Amino acid sequence: MTKDLPKRFFVETWGCQMNELDSQRLSSQLMQEGILPTRDASQADLILLNSCSVREKAAHKAYSRLGEYRLLKQQRPNMLIGFCGCVAQQEGAQALKRVPDLDFVIGPARVGELRQILQQRLLGKRPVATGFPDASDRNYDIDLLSREGSHKGMVTIIEGCNKKCTFCIVPSTRGPEQNRPIGDILAEVRHLLDFGFREIELLGQTVNHWRDPGTDADFAVLLDRVASLEGLERLRFITSYPRDFSQEMVNQFARHPNICPYLHLPVQSGSDRVLKMMGRGYTTELYFDLVDRLRNSRAGLALSTDIIVGFPGETQQDFQATLDLISKVRFASVYAFKYSPRPGTAAPRLNQPEVPLAEADRRLQTLFSLQKEIQTELNQALVGDIFDVLITSWGKTPGTQTGRTPCHRVIHFEHGSEPAAIGDLVRVKVEQAYAHSLIGRAMSHSDTPAVRSQDTSPLPIIT
Ligand code: SF4
Repeated sequence: MTKDLPKRFFVETWGCQMNELDSQRLSSQLMQEGILPTRDASQADLILLNSCSVREKAAHKAYSRLGEYRLLKQQRPNMLIGFCGCVAQQEGAQALKRVPDLDFVIGPARVGELRQILQQRLLGKRPVATGFPDASDRNYDIDLLSREGSHKGMVTIIEGCNKKCTFCIVPSTRGPEQNRPIGDILAEVRHLLDFGFREIELLGQTVNHWRDPGTDADFAVLLDRVASLEGLERLRFITSYPRDFSQEMVNQFARHPNICPYLHLPVQSGSDRVLKMMGRGYTTELYFDLVDRLRNSRAGLALSTDIIVGFPGETQQDFQATLDLISKVRFASVYAFKYSPRPGTAAPRLNQPEVPLAEADRRLQTLFSLQKEIQTELNQALVGDIFDVLITSWGKTPGTQTGRTPCHRVIHFEHGSEPAAIGDLVRVKVEQAYAHSLIGRAMSHSDTPAVRSQDTSPLPIIT
């Protein structure tokens, strides 16, 4: 095995924004060592697989990908392979036994230790860095170079989760909650704004459960402080837990126009009976009341949610309650999945009857078709509106670009004579609308009213 540092690295990232940011943190450490990124895994001397355990058969998929990388290693014997992310945390040392060519394993809470782990590997060890150190022992330093190409600056504020939803594996893969101090968070956001980011996204599994370890200031205080920073044009945060959303947090939407009119608020089910079995700790009454207060605080707030169908014991009546909730709230988008058991979670021990796979499939398709109708109606109501759009990528056809409206909808548009850079804001008029995207045309700022566009989706009637 080589005793030299690798020259080129390749990172494959699965899963959520937390993993995306973890990959930036991994890349940052390598780039500080002079190791350069490549987009071609076959050219890399170091491959990192940053895995996700949320989807079905996660471990199986991760091992199968590691198997593909082993084949590359046969052609480049000095290549190193690192297994990272939530599946790596779950598998630990066992992964080294199952994959003889695997060089090291890093859990999500140990991402900041990559450099040391690499050094240990070069000394001949096969390190396994899993477990959950305190926030004060975690390294969040990330250089700006590794954020290049990103359209927004993501900032972790809280890692892990103290809740015990009976279907969820996150508490065992990301550990108990660890809060970053407010001073560190504000300094990182300031640094990203000075670098030129227009949009900041605060991240955490239960982002609104954040507390400053020193002063006990809560997330409403943090939102207020971050949104007040000079130069911040857009602020988002994900993921919020309904029960932890205080009125002071709701009020921030009215107080700060730069907090985007969009919120991801997972409900998981429209049935109180199922919510109880899931251990969510709230009822649909609380959820509806919160939605009402949020929409009173910011007119036209767009909401998205997560839903699980076919949870053990879910009856047709329970599922109908979920459809009713979707019809009432009229989400801008819904991320829905069929329930599948995860190792070590409580749901399989609830002794509830399983929903047959074919029935769970049918329910999922019914939900998707209802949501598609709602989304199409909401999006079509936006035709003619003008939005300040944050550019996220080049379009699929020449002369076009893609971006996100403040209400987080995807919009493809013709950029006119001057394309904008990724991460820039462009004023765009919506000309067509479909269920999953808008189509528009860039406008010159002098042609259009200098107003920050609002999401004008019809308000739901919450009863
Ligand atoms: S709140 Fe529930 S679903 Fe979300 S990460 Fe924690 S345990 Fe999982």
